[in-house]
Amino acid sequence: MSSTSSHKCPRCKSETVWEGNPDRPFCSEKCRLIDLGHWADEEYRIPTGEAPMSDENVIPLHPDDSKE
Ligand SMILES: [Zn+2]
Repeated sequence: MSSTSSHKCPRCKSETVWEGNPDRPFCSEKCRLIDLGHWADEEYRIPTGEAPMSDENVIPLHPDDSKE
């Protein structure tokens, strides 16, 4: 076993240490900011629903008016 706890950075998958690492679980501030920016971007993205179809676009089915 290793004396120092090490793991892989979730961002760049490089080996990094946990102890004494202010940017854990990332290897560096760069990876940490990239990950935070990624999640912030996801939150700010507002889902846009499609506009409901207007009645004007619906073609009504005319009944067969072959009445004499
Ligand atoms: Zn990293």
